[in-house]
Amino acid sequence: MSREPAPPAGGTETGGAASLAFAAHDHARCAGGALRRAEALVAERGVRLTPVRRRALEILLEAHRAMGAYEVLERLAADGFGRQPPVAYRALDFLVEQGLAHRIRRLNAFAACTLPGGAHSPAFFICTGCGAIAEAPGEAIRASVEAAAAALGFTVERASIEAAGTCPACREGRA
Ligand SMILES: [Zn+2]
Ligand SMILES: [Zn+2]
Ligand SMILES: [Zn+2]
Repeated sequence: MSREPAPPAGGTETGGAASLAFAAHDHARCAGGALRRAEALVAERGVRLTPVRRRALEILLEAHRAMGAYEVLERLAADGFGRQPPVAYRALDFLVEQGLAHRIRRLNAFAACTLPGGAHSPAFFICTGCGAIAEAPGEAIRASVEAAAAALGFTVERASIEAAGTCPACREGRA
């Protein structure tokens, strides 16, 4: 959960992004758009997308899947950012804090946010066949979890909504 105030639900620019991950699409354009939104967001907030943070985000944006911190570190090292684990961890922490990436707990890995821009409760759909991950708005699921918790007198501080299954391409034998 991010601490920024939530923008009005259903932002125009990110409206259709949730369904793209499992569909054939122009991913270069999709990733480029996400990177530009990230740049605009950090500029608005007055924080800096340093070269290593930007490169880490680009690496995560290469595909709709999650990457472990070690894999990101290897890629950063190959790009000349050094081989010190804190370099990758700090960059990933920054991206998560800013809502530009999410921690996928089930996979102990990170995925670029496909709906960046303010606090949201994402639901993740993870394909066990090809590793593809789609992010969808999970506010309704979150509300159900909170209602169930309230009935128990329980206060939810953190909830990860991650579903494992089969993406359309794997189901149709395309992946
Ligand atoms: Zn894409
Ligand atoms: Zn997100
Ligand atoms: Zn799949």
